[in-house]
Amino acid sequence: MTVRAKDSARDPVRSRPATRSPIEAAEAARRRMDDPAYRVEADQRRGRGAVSNPTGRYEPAQRETFDDGWDLEVDLPPLPTEVIIEKPRTVITRNDSPDIGYDRSINPYRGCEHGCSYCFARPTHAYQGLSSGLDFETKIFAKPSAPELLEKELRAANYQPGTIAIGSNTDPYQPVERRFRIMRGILEVLNQANHPVGIVTKSALVTRDIDILAQMADKQLAKVAISITTLDPKLARKMEPRAASPAKRLETVRKLTENGIPVTVLVAPIIPAINDHEIEAILKASAEAGATEAGYVLLRLPHDLKELVRDWLAEHYPDKLNHVFSLLQEARGGKDYDAQWGVRQTGIGPYAWMLGRRFETTAERLGLNKRSLKLRTDLFRPPAKETGQLSLF
Ligand code: SF4
Repeated sequence: MTVRAKDSARDPVRSRPATRSPIEAAEAARRRMDDPAYRVEADQRRGRGAVSNPTGRYEPAQRETFDDGWDLEVDLPPLPTEVIIEKPRTVITRNDSPDIGYDRSINPYRGCEHGCSYCFARPTHAYQGLSSGLDFETKIFAKPSAPELLEKELRAANYQPGTIAIGSNTDPYQPVERRFRIMRGILEVLNQANHPVGIVTKSALVTRDIDILAQMADKQLAKVAISITTLDPKLARKMEPRAASPAKRLETVRKLTENGIPVTVLVAPIIPAINDHEIEAILKASAEAGATEAGYVLLRLPHDLKELVRDWLAEHYPDKLNHVFSLLQEARGGKDYDAQWGVRQTGIGPYAWMLGRRFETTAERLGLNKRSLKLRTDLFRPPAKETGQLSLF
């Protein structure tokens, strides 16, 4: 088999009609997954979340595999993880979205090897000319200079402190962090500057940094959110193959809270007919492990993620494909996704309303969200000079 380029107007994802019923879209996904030029064989994507790798949406030509007659007997090896070093000029990204609780963030990595099939950051890989599918979880961009850049940005005369969110886009504790230790370098800078940080992760690796996080939490400078989507290890393996198992995530909640680090559990995303029945059980297990706050997000499907999720369902849950998208469209005003601020996190309509009430009543019964911890900014002191240690990067 080999790969050739063809006009992207023939791309089976991009050439789809703008509006289709859930049934028509499901049929199209099933046809795609039967097409050897489109689907990626199971051996090659072993241990990965996405089941396809459609061409990035900004690319002028589409890649397709075809049989060239030379290697009919050869099984393609599993896709390796490739790390690309990125050298940005700055590292703090600003946003003005009114429906999220922070105005700045840091992404030590782009792409995420955890490979969650539903990950809403997937479409951002198109900016690198790459696919939101398997490319997103196999081609990882790392920013080893992030701690050094952060130190410089915090030292700027006009810098005003405010909670920096890390992990709001891609996971800072994904597997390559073991090797690069970028997140640890960032935490060292933030701790030294008494600067607040809010972390989101699905990885047990965050416990490696308990020594720093406990010092910061003691000064009300750190909180961690652990996303838990299911308690079923079989579903987790299909849905988020390289993230920590559900049991390991609960153990992570316990270890963090035992060390005085406040933990929020995020039931995110809720995928209709796949994990929506688990809201109460996840909240209960998390509260028992020590979480004090909780949130949830309904599945968000920007850009081509909607078709990637259809491909994933066609492969793993073909009988549920129509039902998932019927419920989703009910909660998204008849569309697969509505990106409007204020409704994109939770959706609208009876199904979305029911999810919200189930979440709220359970959280209240378990004593979650009694108060929302505000991190302190008044302790901030700009880094005085370069540490020398960071010049290693
Ligand atoms: S852990 Fe987070 S960033 Fe990584 S793939 Fe999963 S949802 Fe995306």
